[in-house]
Amino acid sequence: MSSEKPSLPLHERMVCNHPLAHHTTIGVGGPARYFMPAATTDELRYALLWAADRHLPVFVLGGGSNVVIADSGFPGLVVQIVSRGWQVEERDTESVILRVASGERWDYVVEEAVAQGWAGIECLAGIPGQVGATPIQNVGAYGQQVSESIVEVKAIDVTTGQAVTFTAQDCAFGYRTSRFKTADAGRYVIVEVAYRLLRDGIPTVRYAELAAYLDEQKIRTPTLAQVRGAVRAIRARKSMLADPNDPNARSCGSFFINPTVSRKQFEELVEIARRKAMISADAFPPHYASGDEVKLSAAWLIEHAGLRRGTRLGPAALSQKHALAIVNLGGAKARDIIALAQLVRSQVFERFGILLQPEPVFVGFETDPFAS
Ligand SMILES: Cc1cc2nc3c(=O)[nH]c(=O)nc-3n(C[C@H](O)[C@H](O)[C@H](O)COP(=O)(O)OP(=O)(O)OC[C@H]3O[C@@H](n4cnc5c(N)ncnc54)[C@H](O)[C@@H]3O)c2cc1C
Repeated sequence: MSSEKPSLPLHERMVCNHPLAHHTTIGVGGPARYFMPAATTDELRYALLWAADRHLPVFVLGGGSNVVIADSGFPGLVVQIVSRGWQVEERDTESVILRVASGERWDYVVEEAVAQGWAGIECLAGIPGQVGATPIQNVGAYGQQVSESIVEVKAIDVTTGQAVTFTAQDCAFGYRTSRFKTADAGRYVIVEVAYRLLRDGIPTVRYAELAAYLDEQKIRTPTLAQVRGAVRAIRARKSMLADPNDPNARSCGSFFINPTVSRKQFEELVEIARRKAMISADAFPPHYASGDEVKLSAAWLIEHAGLRRGTRLGPAALSQKHALAIVNLGGAKARDIIALAQLVRSQVFERFGILLQPEPVFVGFETDPFAS
């Protein structure tokens, strides 16, 4: 975000009772009491000050691809980040630092990086949303997480209006999480993210499904562009690209995080799965073991709890392409999405004793729909 004067006086850019559903990929949610797009840091600061003067809560909206907004809407100011631009710093022979304004579309940044021959984010192609949201849940897919490339995050502290710079270490990144989604949720508005990308142009192929796809295509030594293309092709098969013409993509992507359990819980799962003939006597459910913990596939748990792809509950359904995505079939309300998500959660818990945690951010709800 640059620090220019706003193009219009703030009061002329502020809209009352602005509908939010069309700003989200899942297409649900009521209006914002006040709504304002912010293209510069100054506009953002003015908006924050305006809301603080009126004791109104603030919500920062990016591309709306990871939010479920309550049917009652949001009772304060929604600031939509619309900043654009990036700079390239050429510090050494091995890498470049790409500094990107938070409102840039993430998938476009990946495309440009790949076109330049810079490696590090090629497997994150096709993830909807904006740059400013990438550190929030440490977006990841197909063997890469954005935390591997982020070197710096610039933000404005909502409580003081001060500019703050975080190193990657400060961000407390974890699997689909960071300080911005946990301890400091809602405290900082991210205005710029800096990524370190490698000039060697060697793509990362460490995810089995990606490797298998490239193998099928008989691509032995893939280029960055081929890996990006492969990731997009795999995502398209699962309706995991933001495509307004694909009814299965009217979602927030994965609704639940892949759960991490203890070895003991994993053994119990294996026992249940074998006893109920979900798998053969010597097989295991899909998993990834690391130390004392085992990461499971939430999609596998959902499907083996008896909820097939396409399962409907009113105008909400599990995607026909991927059991982990909850889709708005048309005309769904937030309460319909939540009702199906709660059904999924309770059925998985009853069958396996594992409580799935939702991935999207819930906005405007009086109480957390998934508390417990
Ligand atoms: C089809 C589909 C596929 C997806 N696939 C993946 C995937 O493979 N991997 C993955 O990790 N995610 C995936 N997602 C989820 C989503 O795309 C990402 O989480 C994305 O980073 C959200 O970006 P956004 O700009 O849309 O954020 P929003 O949905 O607008 O906001 C999400 C959260 O980030 C906050 N936020 C946004 N911008 C800022 C900012 N500038 N400063 C402070 N807070 C901010 C919001 O307040 C909110 O809390 C998918 C979603 C869809 C719809």
